[in-house]
Amino acid sequence: MDIIKMRDWGFGWQNLPRPLLIAGPCSAETEAQTLESCRGAAEAGAVMLRAGIWKPRTRPDQFEGIGEIGLPWLTAAGREFGLPVTVEIANGAHVEAALKAGVDVLWIGARTTVNPFSVQEIADALRGTNIPVMVKNPLNPDVGLWIGAFERLYKVGIQRMAAIHRGFSVANAAPYRNKPKWELPIELHRCIEGLDIINDPSHIAGKRDLLFDIAQKAMNLNFDGLMIETHCAPDAAWSDAAQQVTGADLRALLDKLVIRRASTDDPDLLNKLEELRDVIDTLDLEIISLLSKRMETSREIGGYKRAHQITILQIERWRQIFESRTAEAEKGGLHANFVKSYLEALHLESIRQQASPDPSEGGEA
Ligand code: PEP
Ligand code: MN
Repeated sequence: MDIIKMRDWGFGWQNLPRPLLIAGPCSAETEAQTLESCRGAAEAGAVMLRAGIWKPRTRPDQFEGIGEIGLPWLTAAGREFGLPVTVEIANGAHVEAALKAGVDVLWIGARTTVNPFSVQEIADALRGTNIPVMVKNPLNPDVGLWIGAFERLYKVGIQRMAAIHRGFSVANAAPYRNKPKWELPIELHRCIEGLDIINDPSHIAGKRDLLFDIAQKAMNLNFDGLMIETHCAPDAAWSDAAQQVTGADLRALLDKLVIRRASTDDPDLLNKLEELRDVIDTLDLEIISLLSKRMETSREIGGYKRAHQITILQIERWRQIFESRTAEAEKGGLHANFVKSYLEALHLESIRQQASPDPSEGGEA
């Protein structure tokens, strides 16, 4: 995909430092609240103003957005502060209304990215428009759905695209509202070259006190932008009150962020990094070779078990492996969760290899 990065979207962002900041209220509630919340966002350094007009809420008795009447409130705030504005759209009618109102950028929300019918309906409504579109991650941790949304938009001619990472709805997301699962935006970035990634600490955190750490982590991972919800009176917000901050709080948060450079031209540092990367390369190759030997041995065991009609899964043996390896790994300073995921993956693959028919029997190994 030939994607146009945010800095080249035509809003004069070319030379701005990281992060590009998008801010504004979760929802437009009244004309005055929209204007004042956007004022706080603009004063905090936002390069684009956001506000939800149609709110996809979990329960029908929650505030479902002010609707079309709020669009001119947001575009007026954009004119007042000289900034482009963005809204969430979830169907073809929203697209039409937002375009008619002169909204500059659209975004697809997490509850919409999960549904290919909805994303296709939006793409069809966008054909021939060339407006920039940002796509939030789907609710569930499925990078394929996220990629699919970009492909659908690209097929109708949208090139100005960016991703928004807002976390995933999973059981036990605590302390977060939505689990960050940083590996997913990183995987998306690997799969779609040139795509900017914006982190949305507000919807990951769900509460103010976690915002800073999430934003700092996104900066350490070289994310391009941040989308943070700001409200002129956060506690009185009609949606997402616990996670919204004032413009002044947002400015304070940004001032605390340490922004690392994406690369360096210091020759000593480059040499040191090169040396350490060589060590990592060698270790990775050794690990892969050891893993192949281990799987080869598993297949051999599988052959004996098959020949003697013994079950593949021996739960007692697996329990011993799990406990002894975890204890050893922890001695070496490895995190328990990492060791657990590694052992589970190893065991699953070992079972798969043992279950594969023996190559000498004509199947595949
Ligand atoms: C929002 O940005 O206000 C919103 C509804 O976000 P999400 O789609 O991430 O839940
Ligand atoms: Mn919100």
